[in-house]
Amino acid sequence: MGYRIYIKKDCKAVVYRVPDWWGGGRFNPRLLGIGIVMSVGFAVPMIAPDSGVAYTPRAEIIGHGNEVGASAPNVYAESLEPPQPLEEIVTATLPDRVPEALWTSVKVANGDNLSTIFSRLGFTATTLDAILASSDEAARLNQLHPGQTLKFQVAGNELLALQFEPNARDSLEIERSGNGYVGSLITTELDSRLRQSSAEITSSLFLAGQEAGMSDGLIMDLVAIFGWDVDFALDIWEGDHFKVIYEEYYKNNVKVSDGSILAAEFSNRGKVYRAVRYTSADGRAGYFSDTGASMRRAFLRTPLNFTRISSGFNLQRRHPILSRIRAHRGVDYAAPMGTPIRATGDGVVTYAGRKGGYGNTLLLRHGSAYDTLYGHMSRFARGMKKGARVAQGDVIGYVGMTGLATGPHLHYEFQVNGTHRNPLTIALPRAEGIPADQIGKFEAATAPLLAQLGESLQAADAMVVLSEDTANIPAVP
Ligand SMILES: [Zn+2]
Repeated sequence: MGYRIYIKKDCKAVVYRVPDWWGGGRFNPRLLGIGIVMSVGFAVPMIAPDSGVAYTPRAEIIGHGNEVGASAPNVYAESLEPPQPLEEIVTATLPDRVPEALWTSVKVANGDNLSTIFSRLGFTATTLDAILASSDEAARLNQLHPGQTLKFQVAGNELLALQFEPNARDSLEIERSGNGYVGSLITTELDSRLRQSSAEITSSLFLAGQEAGMSDGLIMDLVAIFGWDVDFALDIWEGDHFKVIYEEYYKNNVKVSDGSILAAEFSNRGKVYRAVRYTSADGRAGYFSDTGASMRRAFLRTPLNFTRISSGFNLQRRHPILSRIRAHRGVDYAAPMGTPIRATGDGVVTYAGRKGGYGNTLLLRHGSAYDTLYGHMSRFARGMKKGARVAQGDVIGYVGMTGLATGPHLHYEFQVNGTHRNPLTIALPRAEGIPADQIGKFEAATAPLLAQLGESLQAADAMVVLSEDTANIPAVP
């Protein structure tokens, strides 16, 4: 940016901040005419509010007379035009501020990248290259996600500036400079504030949550925390209620996002579940009951998004292809070819390959008591071989119909100590809780949140002690 000083007819100095690319020449009234023609030509006439005259929004007045230290009324800066009837030009062409409307927001859509957005806005490939060369941080523009917003400051068909916030903390600001652009990343620390919401469900969980001021994302987080114990699809009742303590992030006193739920309580048909967030020494965060039991189960109930269960666990089933009684020791989930299959629990691959009628089969061992089997896969995920470690939810392969199968489906088996059990009904063990030697630290860290959560919402509700409800099934490690 540079500065230019003009002296008005009344001998007051007016200082303008002008971009370097202005050209450094003197103010040329002919350019104004061209500007007006271009503005009208591009159907973006910009009208100064008080003058009703179009202007070129290329300079910004940053002060008048002695506000900017131009103390002598007859100061002439070098290369100034004589004080001709500049005042008229000035008031007609340059308002006090460049209006906000010059910024255009573009929301990133599915399939968009910087190049498609630039060509849609009519910017050249040269401009795109110059933007990407503006700083190292500009590389962040190569990782746009749907829903993010880019802001463009445009005059005529010329890009003056671009602003992008890759996340709530960071802002990438790129401005025209000389023949190119300069960019910088500005980071603002966010403050986190605790907020508490509670509600009773009268029609739906989402309505209750929204009335309590919670975002849909936060309600989904609540469902994820208690979803291992509460069936949110089928078993939510009028009168169920919840209380949530969560973080909100603020930037310059404006809320920018929700943070994590730190503690929550959910009462489902008189049973109260309580969870508190805790980050262990190794940096892993999770939700635990107030006694330190994990809110999660060691196994997902199902390994995929399925269309329907095409065959259940049945020890007396007539086989559809072999046409004779053959026990069906697992569950068949019909799903489109290629549907991702996920490991239901943390484990180690004990077999990956062809296995008779099961076709492409993967076997996982989970601790010393549990094994799971996944059959008929079209293919395995990358890296699936004997000895590979997988985490719960990792994609291990894709639905197919290899082996003896009449259509694409996953055959899934669940074994406890070598005995096949019905995966749909077996009580699933909890994931590992807080180890005994860390429980003191856990209690000290979570006590303030649990105190804030307060006493159970209704004295009649029975607090569920999670560590006991699955005490009769083997632990995973
Ligand atoms: Zn099967």
